[in-house]
Amino acid sequence: MTDTSTLNFDGRAVINGERVSARDGQTFDCISPVDGRVLTQVARGGQADIDAAVAAARAAFEDRRWSGMAPAQRKRVMIKFADQLLAHADELALTETLDMGKPVKYARAVDVNSAANCIRWYGEAVDKVYDEIAPTADTALALITRQPVGVVGIIVPWNYPMIMAAWKIAPALAAGNSVVLKPSEKSPLTALRMAELALAAGIPPGVFNVVPGYGPEAGSPLALHMDVDCIAFTGSTRVGKQIHVMAGQSNLKRAWTELGGKSPNIVFADCPNLDRAVEAAVGSIFFNQGESCNAPSRLFVEASIKDAFLEKALKLVPNYQPANPLEKSTVMGAIVDKVQLDNVMRYIDLGKSEGARLLAGGERALCDSGGCYVLPTIFDGVTSQMTIAREEIFGPVLSVLSFTDAAEVVREANNSVYGLQAAVWTSDLNKAHGVARALRAGTVHVNQYDEDDITVPFGGFKQSGVGRDKSLHAFDKYTETKTTWIRIDSPV
Ligand code: NAD
Repeated sequence: MTDTSTLNFDGRAVINGERVSARDGQTFDCISPVDGRVLTQVARGGQADIDAAVAAARAAFEDRRWSGMAPAQRKRVMIKFADQLLAHADELALTETLDMGKPVKYARAVDVNSAANCIRWYGEAVDKVYDEIAPTADTALALITRQPVGVVGIIVPWNYPMIMAAWKIAPALAAGNSVVLKPSEKSPLTALRMAELALAAGIPPGVFNVVPGYGPEAGSPLALHMDVDCIAFTGSTRVGKQIHVMAGQSNLKRAWTELGGKSPNIVFADCPNLDRAVEAAVGSIFFNQGESCNAPSRLFVEASIKDAFLEKALKLVPNYQPANPLEKSTVMGAIVDKVQLDNVMRYIDLGKSEGARLLAGGERALCDSGGCYVLPTIFDGVTSQMTIAREEIFGPVLSVLSFTDAAEVVREANNSVYGLQAAVWTSDLNKAHGVARALRAGTVHVNQYDEDDITVPFGGFKQSGVGRDKSLHAFDKYTETKTTWIRIDSPV
């Protein structure tokens, strides 16, 4: 078991470089899903706190203490920020595990490392991206330049608190913006610590502010704020739709949304490596307790190999038994809180009552721990009409469907309001390309589900959202494009 006795939590907001309580003094309990204990009190931010944070961010932007820095200098500070995360990796990983329940070994190896890598990558990129000169007639020069949008509001969910924050703050800060981040009320602690580490790295006060609080109380004032130029949101499709409405109701701020998913994973009978396909199908749905937006939660297996596939899959299920996430050997930890636990159990009950066949799991686990644990769950005999095939569960629940031909499975896979990711397993190059092209998803995997890199865009088609995180494309969200015409009266 990892030692947590040295951890000291501070739940106050970070505004203008200072740790501050909510203006009205309100707090809420930060409860660990590991064992139900209260970790600390967190500032319950509201309109007045968001106003103060936005004012600090605006002042920092206008006096150019960050936006006016040469890109090479911003780069150096961003790299120091990434180094600060790595220097505090154990503390951050433990905090993340206690706050949202993921296994500490993944919090350390995945969450902290990916967040630091993302911040370093955008820092390194910012002095290597050039602007443009348009190919106009030689009576004029047309410069096409990128400028930071100004004050960026960021709202993130709880499933990968540091990574989701990093995907947005890194390109926004690297481009020269000031930021107000509202983390999820279910996992606020690492974001607050990141703001302190950013200050230690040399990001000036006021440039990166964090206001914790509930969505309607702190998130909505940020999305509705008249002095916020851009709102970048990751979370549910339900709230994402409200974010676009709030942007329109206020100052038409740029609104970018990374939302839910119900990703199809299609395995044809000519799959080149069935064992690998089984491992990916099982491992990807149970990773992070199934609380991943891109989890392949709809598994389509060609009918002729379905029994063989499921036999192999069931043999792997015991490897994913939930356990205390502070144990270094644990691969499946706790569900983030009681509300989400009840949500997952409600979907499991719906799967049973709508006629799906429960092959594994379907129950809570470790009930005496005081924490929130669910067994890895597999349903067979699922049809596209069932709720567990249509709605995002966001828990360790796999829905298995079968098919007989490519056209049918593409139609069924695309029969979803979501379009975040998809996968196809086949040895046939034509089938791989044809199906990948026909799938309506932001990312399609062929014969794997693990590849991920900061260099590629991440985001969805349809109601999985608007815009892309990661890669150089993310700069598009946090910069305005300006054209400057210069007349040239040539003397020659
Ligand atoms: P959520 O929508 O409930 O909350 C997300 C954030 O929005 C939280 O910070 C919350 O406090 C805030 N919020 C809630 N109501 C609000 C309101 N009225 N106004 C402003 N802000 C409000 O989502 P969640 O349960 O935290 O996260 C799970 C969801 O996130 C899933 O649907 C998942 O698919 C999605 N997600 C998507 C991606 C992606 O990149 N596409 C990545 C991770 C998670």
